[in-house]
Amino acid sequence: MFPSRPFDARLVTTRRLTPSVRELVFERTDGAPFQFDPGQWVNLVLPLPGGEIKRAYSIASAPVAGSPRFELAITQVEGGPGSQYLHAMKEGETLRAIGPQGLFTRGKDVAAPSLFIATGTGLTPFRSMIQAALTAGDTAPLWLLFGARYEEDILYGDELTRWAAAHPHVRHEVTLSKATNGWTGRRGYVQHHASELVRDLRALGGGADPHVYICGLDRMVGSVKDLLRNELALPRKHVHTERYD
Ligand SMILES: Cc1cc2nc3c(=O)[nH]c(=O)nc-3n(C[C@H](O)[C@H](O)[C@H](O)COP(=O)(O)OP(=O)(O)OC[C@H]3O[C@@H](n4cnc5c(N)ncnc54)[C@H](O)[C@@H]3O)c2cc1C
Repeated sequence: MFPSRPFDARLVTTRRLTPSVRELVFERTDGAPFQFDPGQWVNLVLPLPGGEIKRAYSIASAPVAGSPRFELAITQVEGGPGSQYLHAMKEGETLRAIGPQGLFTRGKDVAAPSLFIATGTGLTPFRSMIQAALTAGDTAPLWLLFGARYEEDILYGDELTRWAAAHPHVRHEVTLSKATNGWTGRRGYVQHHASELVRDLRALGGGADPHVYICGLDRMVGSVKDLLRNELALPRKHVHTERYD
């Protein structure tokens, strides 16, 4: 684990990922490498007119040796002061950050068959984990189940589809809760599809339990976790969670 320290970060580039999600690429102003483990997050200190607030954001990029850069993906929450500030922030502006932080990492299970389950920007730590595993050349199954409302809300869709096409051990499953008639993929909530994928992964591994990582808002995380523990009897040590609220 790398020590968590305060540092200044400059917003280098931004792009819109979906109608409500903005990607922000930061780099340390001192040019020092930003070292972290995939799945960790940073605390951003946001100087609002009424005083400073701190908000946590999972790092969406994989660590790159020697690089001062890291990427975030921020959902614009209606009436939310932190996310509104970050959606209005201009390239070139700087912020105080504290990090890296958090224990939502693959740790000693880094090369184990894994299922990642996310809704919305809960996907960000998994983008980092999958990218890091591909760079490391790991070949154990890395399956992602992502839930959103509409097709336009699919986060990093092209990139993940490309990774899955290029690497047979990577699978990208998307389920939409408000899909239009033309959508031919999965429908409904991630809860409706998680059991099937865990069973398939078990079968692929000769009955061995995969590790399942769940990230997003509390209600989804809690309900998927209950399902995995109660219906599929996944051992506690195989279920990892990160809650955004
Ligand atoms: C460890 C950790 C990592 C996080 N990583 C991310 C991330 O990568 N991207 C990101 O956008 N947010 C992330 N969050 C949430 C983030 O810290 C803020 O809570 C969020 O930006 C809302 O802050 P706000 O000041 O705009 O609104 P607030 O007024 O503080 O929050 C209002 C409500 O917004 C809802 N909310 C919080 N996060 C989200 C979200 N992502 N999508 C939809 N609704 C949400 C919650 O119900 C919350 O109660 C993370 C939180 C934690 C604890």
